[in-house]
Amino acid sequence: MINYFIDSHCHIQSIGNEDSTGRLWSSKGHLTQEAVIKASLDKNVKLMIAVGCNLKDSLLAVKLANNYSCVLPAIGIHPHETKDFLASNQFHQFEAMINDSIVAIGECGLDYYYHHSDPTSQQKLLIWQLQLAKKYNLPLIFHVRQAFDDFWPIIKDFLPLKAVLHSFTDDQKNLFQALDNNFMIGVNGIATFMKTDQEIEMLKSIPLDHLILETDSPYLTPVPYRGTINTPKNVFYITEYLSKLRKEDFNLIRHQTSFNTVKLFNLKGV
Ligand SMILES: [Zn+2]
Repeated sequence: MINYFIDSHCHIQSIGNEDSTGRLWSSKGHLTQEAVIKASLDKNVKLMIAVGCNLKDSLLAVKLANNYSCVLPAIGIHPHETKDFLASNQFHQFEAMINDSIVAIGECGLDYYYHHSDPTSQQKLLIWQLQLAKKYNLPLIFHVRQAFDDFWPIIKDFLPLKAVLHSFTDDQKNLFQALDNNFMIGVNGIATFMKTDQEIEMLKSIPLDHLILETDSPYLTPVPYRGTINTPKNVFYITEYLSKLRKEDFNLIRHQTSFNTVKLFNLKGV
């Protein structure tokens, strides 16, 4: 049995830094990377995957991972960052960051809910990141919001893929499509305030051997800490909620989700 948590998706590298995520971290008082990591380790979150959203943010994730063995870096260009990334033409610099310490490409994907970048550009950047993942044999962390109709046909050309649909809140149809592709399903604090029957049924129907836990901190603080800044230690409350909802043993969820995360990201020596 694995007796510790893994936060498979957080943004702790931006604590104290001035990008959009960094501003959110500092909006609720003074936090340091060291304090957040220590508090998470104290709550039995033994590993944290720091997920990059643009070139600078990905570099910060790599840098943080160099300083803390419990932090593992994923590098990616978030769909919101598409326009800026394409304009700055940073393809070469991004690819040059890939080495053995990187655990995944992401977060990458499509987001048609916010209109930060046009769909064609988002698709272009997603395809490029899929090609990189294939070239370097790395798993992917996908962010897909209101864009599954375009996402699935793009993915089809790259299968089989090791991947997670992070922060999954969509319907059962897209859940089953993801499971058909053998993708992991990332669940975070949103689960603790999902209310509709359809949402609850979807959460219950994720097979435990395809479920992984994440906080997406500093965003999406779970109940009962809504209104405070989210940190990786809160993965505990997501597990507690899922245990009650799905009528599965707390320790079993912790074990299986950590096991799934180790398997997905091919984590060695844990
Ligand atoms: Zn994220």
